[in-house]
Amino acid sequence: MVTIKKNPTAIQAEFIERWNTELDRSTPEEILQWAYTTYSPKLTMGTALGNSGCVILSMLAKLNLYIPIFNLDTGYQFPETLELLDQINTKYGLGIVRCSSEISVTEFETINGGALYELDSDRCCYERKVKVLESIAPKYDAWISGLRRDQSSTRASTPVIGWDAKFGLVKIAPLAHWTNKDVWKRIVEESIPYNKLYDQGYTSIGCKPCTRPTTANEDERAGRWAGKQKTECGLH
Ligand code: SF4
Repeated sequence: MVTIKKNPTAIQAEFIERWNTELDRSTPEEILQWAYTTYSPKLTMGTALGNSGCVILSMLAKLNLYIPIFNLDTGYQFPETLELLDQINTKYGLGIVRCSSEISVTEFETINGGALYELDSDRCCYERKVKVLESIAPKYDAWISGLRRDQSSTRASTPVIGWDAKFGLVKIAPLAHWTNKDVWKRIVEESIPYNKLYDQGYTSIGCKPCTRPTTANEDERAGRWAGKQKTECGLH
């Protein structure tokens, strides 16, 4: 197992770069198997139960790669997302855990004089998501995410294996080179549970107050923080 903490050494950075090149055209299953062999038990996955995440979860189960998996539960997720989490746990036995801030939404809004997602969405994302991951990250060496290059222009150069300087972890994106079409093909072929909001015009699903359905010509992530400059929550 390769142990990497914040600020990788030159040798560790070289290791990441080499495997990023070697695995760039590998199948997601091969990438997941490599991640497990290299980093487990210090390997985790974060998921908001998007379509890519659901495909990766099904692959982990199929490959019998049981790792700790977390969902950052902001308190603002759609009920459909929470139902899906239960459904996936029942179907695949993955034991996805909901991790949240110690401060309830009610208390959080009282402290901040109202809904912080309206007043300062960057700080809301930091408090409800990033800070929670900051408390989880030190236990691990690597994490898996569902990022894909075709999701938006800001994700176009997502590496399969990269260094996540924000959290001091190796970041693995097994579906980096897949398209939205590839993901849906697999969901249909294997009857993988997915968020039913996709059937209502949503193409990327985050927190309820900050997500709307998209129209045909929009980016997959255009419905996230629509009308604001913000495109990411600070996790990626
Ligand atoms: S997506 Fe919206 S509600 Fe969720 S944490 Fe960020 S600002 Fe808050």
